[in-house]
Amino acid sequence: MKLDDSSLQKFCFIKRETLGSINIDPLQTGGLLTEAAKQALVEWGDGYSVCDFCGGVLDLIKKPPIHDFVHQALPEFLGCDEARVTNGARESKFAVMHSIGKPGDWIVLDGLAHYSSYVAAERAGLNIKVVPHAGSPEYYLDPEGYGRAIEEVIRESGKPPALALVTYPDGSYGNIPDAKKIASVCHEYDVPLLLNGAYCVGRMPVSAKEIGADFIVGSGHKSMAASGPVGVLGVSKEYAPVVFRKSTHNKVKEVELLGCTARGATVMTLMASFPEVVKRTRNWDQEVENARWFSSKLEGLGFIQRGQKPHSHDLMFFEAPGFYEISEKVKNGRYFLYKELKERNIHGIKSGLTKYFKLSTFGLGKEKLGIVADSFEDILKKYEGV
Ligand SMILES: *Cc1c(COP(=O)(O)O)cnc(C)c1O
Repeated sequence: MKLDDSSLQKFCFIKRETLGSINIDPLQTGGLLTEAAKQALVEWGDGYSVCDFCGGVLDLIKKPPIHDFVHQALPEFLGCDEARVTNGARESKFAVMHSIGKPGDWIVLDGLAHYSSYVAAERAGLNIKVVPHAGSPEYYLDPEGYGRAIEEVIRESGKPPALALVTYPDGSYGNIPDAKKIASVCHEYDVPLLLNGAYCVGRMPVSAKEIGADFIVGSGHKSMAASGPVGVLGVSKEYAPVVFRKSTHNKVKEVELLGCTARGATVMTLMASFPEVVKRTRNWDQEVENARWFSSKLEGLGFIQRGQKPHSHDLMFFEAPGFYEISEKVKNGRYFLYKELKERNIHGIKSGLTKYFKLSTFGLGKEKLGIVADSFEDILKKYEGV
């Protein structure tokens, strides 16, 4: 491509068509910026903006108060001894896997683990043993499955896995596994546990210590109202010297963080939203109630919610036979639903999906959720008898 003015112009892609819609995309509901974060984004948008007063260590910067955020607020919020800001949940996971395991070691993870847990393990050279779930309709994860998987690894490789991981909740069904039990099973074999809280940290109350997890990971752009990519990582004091070991070449830089992580607007939006994020986690019971209320409304329309029931998270997976039947009959086929929802200013169900889809009720409140449920009902009615 020629880099002349007219062909370059298309990259000035400013207008966002989904802005202002009712958003039920699980990827996006927890990452909507607070007003404070929007301001921070503009104010701190210049590259390396946070480095004005940096003495060489990002998380020790006093102004803006990154030091107090990372070393005081985050450990308290995550229930861990030491914390860092990273460039995302996957970067947090990779830092742990790469420092705790050696190439050829094993990791045990749940059958609903996110793809980024797999690629992080691959990049760290780890072999992967999956703890199976029970399949449809609940996708239950048996904590004792971790014990069986660990014993398999011991039988096959002669030693326990370097690490276990549990996804809390998973990104497909929003199931909350019994992480406390999983931690105690893993610890019976001296295997440390990483809690992948990409869908939990910033939405619901969670404490690595209470659960017994050695590591906890969160995603700023997924669940902490931040403009990413940005994530958090909490580590127990037992493992902090390994994960946060320093370079032999530059005495202040931490190797797994490649010296510095989020170094601009991303960390500033994370911090700016933090006061509201802390408060919203205290409202989690209401969020769960809203999710259950919405789920029961959809079940009233003949939809079937898969995964844990009653549900305990805003991310839910539905089977929608009514929409599927319509898609078999109408001209646009499986794209009719996306189009109908778009006309109603509702965004977040993937284009082309009708039979199965996931959605999130987080932060919407009953009024907007009611509009979504009513819209689903309208669409079903509209095509009745077609
Ligand atoms: C979204 C998600 C991730 C990835 O988070 P990033 O911060 O984008 O790396 C990891 N795990 C789960 C379960 C997720 O849902």
